[in-house]
Amino acid sequence: MKNLRELNPFRLGFGLMRLPKNPDGSIDIPQVCRMADRFLEAGGTYFDTAYVYDNGASEAAFREAVANRYPRESYTLCTKLNAWMQCSDEKSAKQQFWTSLDRTGAGYFDYYLLHALQRVNIGKYNEYRIWDFIAEQKQKGLVKHYGFSFHADPELLEQLLREHPEVDFVQLQMNYADWENPGVASRRNWEICREHGKPVVIMEPVKGGILANPIPEVREILDRANGQVSYASWALRFCAGLDNILAVLSGMSSLEQMEDNLRTMKDFSPLNDTEMQVIRQAQEALNAARAIPCTSCRYCTEGCPMGIPIPDIFTVYNRREGSPHFRTVREYTIVTTGKGKASQCVQCGQCERACPQHLPIISLLETCREMET
Ligand code: SF4
Ligand code: SF4
Repeated sequence: MKNLRELNPFRLGFGLMRLPKNPDGSIDIPQVCRMADRFLEAGGTYFDTAYVYDNGASEAAFREAVANRYPRESYTLCTKLNAWMQCSDEKSAKQQFWTSLDRTGAGYFDYYLLHALQRVNIGKYNEYRIWDFIAEQKQKGLVKHYGFSFHADPELLEQLLREHPEVDFVQLQMNYADWENPGVASRRNWEICREHGKPVVIMEPVKGGILANPIPEVREILDRANGQVSYASWALRFCAGLDNILAVLSGMSSLEQMEDNLRTMKDFSPLNDTEMQVIRQAQEALNAARAIPCTSCRYCTEGCPMGIPIPDIFTVYNRREGSPHFRTVREYTIVTTGKGKASQCVQCGQCERACPQHLPIISLLETCREMET
């Protein structure tokens, strides 16, 4: 790969996983257009989507907001093939590539990923020969760089990079909350990529929004250090200051979030020693907290036979933990109306196999049952 700063001088990437929505649940395209305009105007180029995001609506939104409105050389695009969601066999898995090409209107992909590799799904990528399939597309010029996004342990990462030295880069979940979290292993996985000479794209730098609106204990620590900047800016600067980084993705949902991130990245400065000390205090406060570290990725909900809105229930639980006056029963009823409730879980385990955070969802739902009364 070329020099990383040449490929993406701005460092920030626009993640298209949590785009703004209309009241009917569709993506608010005019708002996405405004966000894309501001991103490109500020010097950003890197967009990140996936075949499965919003059941394809994210890729379609990219086409409307960017591909249809900007020349091809003004942006770079990454999307992903998922061999364990929204497909049933080798043919339908590979078809995702062609559908993404058509849906994004990009003509080719600057970056392409095998999506969310974990021990439970790696067999599908091997069985369907997705590695070879993407290498063929690279040979044809339809993919410029490819790799995999990863949600597992350092041993599996080592193994994959030994078996596939041809990959160009790796996408990792990294943020200050998960830096030493044994379930995510941000630091160790980043070190392994460096040892193998593989640039890293960072996903979830604000942990699905958790670090943009952190628990009261963390807010207090950050406010005491500097009340003038956003909580998200601490999280972004922590990630963007690391070396060997191709892009730091932020899944932005509003123009306000976009503007805040642009302010952080425009005159970027990494955290200094005093600020790193503040982050260490925040890490300790997070480790001591009871909040459920769900990133609202929703990979768990697609196959739930009871239609339980798992991340929404966890959000209600976390908000209750952070606020003594929270109207728990009312909020719980709103998110579960017409859907499954925590008490209806039949413990099939599908959600736990899909969860990239490796959360013990079944026992967490047991805990959440108390909110039903
Ligand atoms: S274990 Fe419970 S919550 Fe998870 S998929 Fe099965 S029924 Fe749904
Ligand atoms: S429980 Fe896991 S899979 Fe489900 S939304 Fe949260 S982090 Fe994602």
